[in-house]
Amino acid sequence: MNLERVTVAGGGVLGSQIAYQSAFKGKTVIIYDINDEAIEQVKKRVNALRDQYKHDIQATDEQFDDGLSRLSFTTDLASAVADADLVIEAVPESPSIKHDLYHNLSAMAPERTIFASNSSTFVPSVYMEDTGRPDRFLNMHFANQIWMNNTAEIMGSPKTDPDVFAQIVRFAREIGMVPIELKKEQPGYVLNTLLIPLLNAGGYLWGNDIADPHTIDKTWMVGTGAPMGPFGILDVVGLRTCYNITKDQSGDNPQAQPFLAKVKEMLDEGKLGRESGEGFYHYPNPEFADPGFLKS
Ligand code: NAD
Repeated sequence: MNLERVTVAGGGVLGSQIAYQSAFKGKTVIIYDINDEAIEQVKKRVNALRDQYKHDIQATDEQFDDGLSRLSFTTDLASAVADADLVIEAVPESPSIKHDLYHNLSAMAPERTIFASNSSTFVPSVYMEDTGRPDRFLNMHFANQIWMNNTAEIMGSPKTDPDVFAQIVRFAREIGMVPIELKKEQPGYVLNTLLIPLLNAGGYLWGNDIADPHTIDKTWMVGTGAPMGPFGILDVVGLRTCYNITKDQSGDNPQAQPFLAKVKEMLDEGKLGRESGEGFYHYPNPEFADPGFLKS
């Protein structure tokens, strides 16, 4: 089956990007969000993508408008999914919100509809029974700024039908993603299973005054040829998110405290990372992008 009619539930940071990218690549997309104010915010997020598509992937205004013409918005879940081939769920990472949504979707969506979760931390078996169709449910996990960072990590539960998995791999390619196929459930998928230990190690080295962020990044960049180091990556993730995740996961760990205290100090000074123009580096021209950075 071709997956042409897509509904994205939740038009936040990631949902708005997933929806627009799918429409940009020719899919007919509906974004569902909870109320009119939320929909106003979703529209703002989608419109803000125009400059990024033009700058980062040289899209023209006509191409961007063409994508917009295939995108619509609603606060009515039943009508949003009435004819959906695929529902991509991108609501907040809160179990109660996700459980409720899947219960509702299970009753409202046609039997043929596939559900895919963009959850960063929950494996699909957590929600599969809520969906009423565990064989047609899996995770498809995108990275922030999906028009550039175009991985789609695809992870089924033990009950996912292999044919559904294959359809999602094909869909991911059709919307311009590089499909990353996981053979079994893994919290953190492939990317975060690799990335989080790197970021934690950077935090440990800085938090314990072993080396400063620029030295740590320089070491990683010179030593491996990577285009940025852990602190350049943290500026993209955003320091608020970094603080909240570290506190959630390592709040009781004494080793994480010096790092948390330093990040808190930066947040209090308004240094939020790339989004505020300053974090570990200054933007739009971060120091690590200067060729001299690696030589000094
Ligand atoms: P967000 O807070 O930016 O957006 C959530 C959206 O869902 C908001 O528009 C909100 O109004 C809406 N919402 C709230 N309750 C809802 C409901 N009951 N039904 C429908 N919509 C509802 O969140 P986000 O950062 O876009 O994250 C969404 C999901 O994507 C999470 O599961 C997260 O793990 C995952 N994710 C996030 C990122 C990221 O970098 N932000 C990356 C990959 C995956």
